Amino acid sequence: MIVPLPERFAEFRHVVVITGAGISAESGIPTFRGEGGLWRNYRAEDLATPSAFRKDPQLVWEWYEMRREICRQAEPNAAHQTLVEMERHFREIGSFLLVTQNVDGLHRRAGNENIVEIHGSIWRVRCTECGRECERLHLDTVPPHCSCGGVERPAVLWFGESYDSIVLETVRAALEKADVCLVIGSSGQVSLPVALAREARRSGAMVVEVNLERSEFSDVADFSFFDKAGSALPELWASWRKLIR
Ligand code: NAD
Repeated sequence: MIVPLPERFAEFRHVVVITGAGISAESGIPTFRGEGGLWRNYRAEDLATPSAFRKDPQLVWEWYEMRREICRQAEPNAAHQTLVEMERHFREIGSFLLVTQNVDGLHRRAGNENIVEIHGSIWRVRCTECGRECERLHLDTVPPHCSCGGVERPAVLWFGESYDSIVLETVRAALEKADVCLVIGSSGQVSLPVALAREARRSGAMVVEVNLERSEFSDVADFSFFDKAGSALPELWASWRKLIR
C-alpha cells in the first residue's frame, strides 16, 4: 500500500533504479533466497561459483539450462512495464539508469534501454580458454564449446568474482547525480548493491525501497514500501506522476 509521496518527488530529474530477483518473482522466476530457492538439494551459493564449475561443469550447466528454460517461458510483469514508462519520462527531462542484478533479460524484453546488467546475462556464454563472449539462446550440447575448443561458461558474475570496474564507474557516476535511487526486490545479501545505495544517499539522493519484507537496504532507505513489486511500483509511479503534473 503506497502512502502519499513527499512533494520533493515533483522535482526529481535524475533517477537510478536497482533491481533484484524479487522484481521477476511475479513473472514466475524463483528468487535465490526464500521459497523455491533449492534445486536438487543444492543451494544457489554452492552452484554459482567458479569452483563448482571447475568441479562439475555439467551439473552447473544443467542448473543454468533449467533456469534459462524458466526465463524463456517468463513474461515481464507490471513492475517491469512501469520501469519502461519511468525511463521514457526521465530520459526526456533528465536521466534514467536501470542497474539490475538480474540475469533473466526481462528488463530489456519489457523495453528498457539504459540498463546495466551488473551480474551479466543468462543468455550469454564466455569461453574459459579464449575469453570470447557471445549470446547463445539455444545450446546444442551441455556444456557448450567455443570454436577454439574451450568449454564455455555462463557469462554471469559468480559468488567470489569481481565486478567489471568500467561498469561500476558508469553506475557510480549516475548515482552521484541521482535525485532518487529506487531499490526493488533485492535482499541485499550481495553487498555491493547495498554499498551503492549507501553512496547514493551520501551524495544526496533519496533512497526508496520496494520489497515484500525488510532487507539489508531497509536501514539505508528513506522509505520502504513492503508490498509486491507488481502492485507497489505501478502505484508508486501513479502517485509520483500526479505530483509532476
Ligand atoms: P534474492 O533472492 O537474494 O532476494 C530476493 C528479494 O526479493 C527478497 O528480499 C524478497 O523479499 C524480495 N521479493 C520476493 N518477491 C518479491 C515481490 N513479488 N516483490 C518485491 N520483492 C520481492 O535476490 P537478489 O537480492 O537479487 O540477489 C541474489 C542474486 O540472485 C543476484 O546476484 C542475481 O543475479 C541472482 N538471481 C537472479 C534472478 C533473475 O535474474 N531473475 C533470479 C534469482 C537470482
